[in-house]
Amino acid sequence: MAERMLKFVATPQRTPDKRTAAERAGDWDEIYRQFSAERAAEQASRCSQCGVPFCQVHCPLGNNIPDWLKLTAEGRLEEAYEVSSATNTFPEICGRICPQDRLCEGNCVIEKGFESVTIGAVEKYITDTAFEKGWVRPPKPAREIPFSVGIVGAGAAGLAAAEQLRRQGYAVDIYDRYDRPGGLMIYGIPNFKLEKPVVLRRWELFRSAGIRFHMDCAVGRDISLAELRNRHDAVLIATGVYKARELGGPGSGLSGIVPALDYLTASNRRGLGDEVPGFDDGTLNAEGSKVVVIGGGDTAMDCVRTAVRQGAASVTCLYRRDKANMPGSMREVKHAEEEGVRFEWLAAPEAFLGDRRVSGVRAVRMHLGLPDATGRQQVEPIAGSGFTLEADLVIKALGFDPEDMPRMFGDDALAVTRWGTLKVDRAMMTAIPGVFAAGDIVRGASLVVWAIKDGRDAAASMHRFIQDKAASSVAVAAE
Ligand code: FAD
Ligand code: SF4
Ligand code: SF4
Repeated sequence: MAERMLKFVATPQRTPDKRTAAERAGDWDEIYRQFSAERAAEQASRCSQCGVPFCQVHCPLGNNIPDWLKLTAEGRLEEAYEVSSATNTFPEICGRICPQDRLCEGNCVIEKGFESVTIGAVEKYITDTAFEKGWVRPPKPAREIPFSVGIVGAGAAGLAAAEQLRRQGYAVDIYDRYDRPGGLMIYGIPNFKLEKPVVLRRWELFRSAGIRFHMDCAVGRDISLAELRNRHDAVLIATGVYKARELGGPGSGLSGIVPALDYLTASNRRGLGDEVPGFDDGTLNAEGSKVVVIGGGDTAMDCVRTAVRQGAASVTCLYRRDKANMPGSMREVKHAEEEGVRFEWLAAPEAFLGDRRVSGVRAVRMHLGLPDATGRQQVEPIAGSGFTLEADLVIKALGFDPEDMPRMFGDDALAVTRWGTLKVDRAMMTAIPGVFAAGDIVRGASLVVWAIKDGRDAAASMHRFIQDKAASSVAVAAE
């Protein structure tokens, strides 16, 4: 064991410096600064190089974490980059936005009483350095092969599959209804968590590798799935989940009540310099408004923190369970609290007040009751506990469901689960031969790291499918 490692006993955990809440609220930059080379090496050297690395077991990509930590501690960064990029298409993105507290770092087994290794921050540092030094190259193939694949959706899953297939020599065409690739990485996740140039520089690399992007092209509207199946040897559907869950109740149709993704997309587009309908008139802009965000997941946290940066007069998050039962990452809640967001735990909306535009939310206090069949405690309203919050912008962040996929793609053969996600077999193939699926449209709303994993797995299956088909047609021709 290199003497550089195992330093957790003497070296405390240090995350990259976090900018003050006051500084953060005044801009859209990421909240953590970059590690210095010395700090990255120091923090990587805290790893005890476990024989059975639980960090790796709990990373969806099975990243070889101990190896790249050791290489970083030794200052061998180019090799660290080679190792970390072998299993991850976007290590710099996962290093920024994976909920590490629930994945790799949450399972780091440095002895009790010592804080985990800062795996995500080191992963980000390695790849950001690789970009600076010019070590990150376009995924060009060693040779072209005479097969082509079509990918619907340029989010994390579609891009991860595209990268793998292009490296193998396939002609790769990506179709996306948006004008920029990245999916939720570009239009959902705010800049203060993931700066947009970090996503867009990958687009440049992919284009220079020969991957063709057909933007502003919605499959089912501008081109049919049947047409894509004719054009390509295999097709991947990686369209994500976008249908917002709705709120009912009196007044829920008032203006000034908007879905979270419309609000976040408008903010991200504005940050990218686009003209955004509804932004300047305050429909999708919290500047000067009393904002109430309903929901307790990471999307809700992104909304409250966006509203703070837009200069809202006040920002309140209303969540029907307590803090301990929030679905979102505790790290994100902490950032929001630091930035001045007020939380109303155990509270749910009953009605929305106002004539045409919303002016308030009538809410009721809840208490946690007995667990249901899933073991999760039920929430029940407390009689007579109603209260009113002033609000002129209400953002609904209650989660997402898939759109009606067979209808969207005009093909009833596309089988779906009872949740509306696409049904796939173990090879990630849908009910239509040669049509595969990956990412949120298979899992339901999930994480970027899982979409990358699915995209890479689907690429491997598509490769096998095309090669097997080619081999069997050669065999038939030879008979
Ligand atoms: P998407 O990223 O949704 O990409 C799907 C793409 O398909 C889009 O570009 C879309 O335009 C395109 N498309 C859809 N329909 C069609 C069609 N008919 N024709 C052509 N193109 C189509 N995950 C994390 O790991 N960390 C986070 O911090 C985090 N924060 C999040 C914050 C928000 C606000 C949201 C909403 C999600 C967040 N997630 C986070 C989840 C994460 O973004 C998703 O799990 C991941 O992006 C899913 O990737 P995907 O490729 O399956 O789908
Ligand atoms: Fe951790 Fe995510 Fe990186 Fe895996 S990809 S090592 S879970 S930060
Ligand atoms: Fe290192 Fe922690 Fe992983 Fe063990 S679990 S190999 S100490 S990062």
